[in-house]
Amino acid sequence: MPIDEGVIKFDASQFVETAALDDASISEINPIRCTLYEKKLIGEYRDLNIGYGNISQRMRQPSQFSGVLSNVKPNPLQAQFIISGTQTGYLDTLTGRHYTCVASVDLQGNTLQCQGPIMASSESLTHGAIYLCNDTINAVIHIHNKTIWQGMLKDKLKHTPSHIPYGTFEMAQAVQLVVAKQSYGSLAMAGHEDGVMFYGESLQTAFSLCMDMFERYTAS
Ligand SMILES: [Zn+2]
Repeated sequence: MPIDEGVIKFDASQFVETAALDDASISEINPIRCTLYEKKLIGEYRDLNIGYGNISQRMRQPSQFSGVLSNVKPNPLQAQFIISGTQTGYLDTLTGRHYTCVASVDLQGNTLQCQGPIMASSESLTHGAIYLCNDTINAVIHIHNKTIWQGMLKDKLKHTPSHIPYGTFEMAQAVQLVVAKQSYGSLAMAGHEDGVMFYGESLQTAFSLCMDMFERYTAS
């Protein structure tokens, strides 16, 4: 089974490499990422050496524009977020060295501006697309879980079409169609095996939606 995962498909040439992010920038996101890792919703396909799953938080608080990110200009019209770095899924504990900042995204141009100690996750464009739908969305979680993914598709819950692969402009467009103007929700990516997205006004909301699906499909 080919797994289409982890390969960066956007233009990453505008990456500005810095030292680690401040602890203040990741104080909310890191504990939730840790729990998702413990539940194997973020992790690694060991046999393939490919990490999966990622998490992001919109930059709203002044404390997030600190340290190596203090030169990032807040732009409420853009999708600006802190996201786990590419190929970090295998790590049980992340630090400021494993998160990075996406300062802007251009969905149509398939480019994003990234600044931090590590390149942004390969699914950053999809995160950006969700933030651009509604400015009350402040967190996005992308997990992999076969049981949840299959269950959501079987139950015809919200999903993107099966012919659309992850990390592309087509996926960004498809996700925006599903999210529309909602401030929170979940969707399965039929064309991205095991892939599910959750988003909400806060990290806690997105995480709760994720745990609801986890209990619904994996508890029995
Ligand atoms: Zn994925």
